[in-house]
Amino acid sequence: MIECTNCETAQFLQITKSRVYFEDGEMINEITERYECTLCEGTGTYALTEEDEVEVSGEVQVTTERPRYA
Ligand SMILES: [Zn+2]
Repeated sequence: MIECTNCETAQFLQITKSRVYFEDGEMINEITERYECTLCEGTGTYALTEEDEVEVSGEVQVTTERPRYA
């Protein structure tokens, strides 16, 4: 889950832009989402790269632990 670093909640976050990358007509596993907090007006981006790495920047953070490998 993504939450605002200022408000420490996801309650006021809205996705303002979402992008999935295509290559030669095929969807590749890379996603960028832009978030805006309606409470403090902070903004940030969340990206999932082709290597399944999460990159966040701005005033958002990832809070939920990803499932651990068995
Ligand atoms: Zn906020």
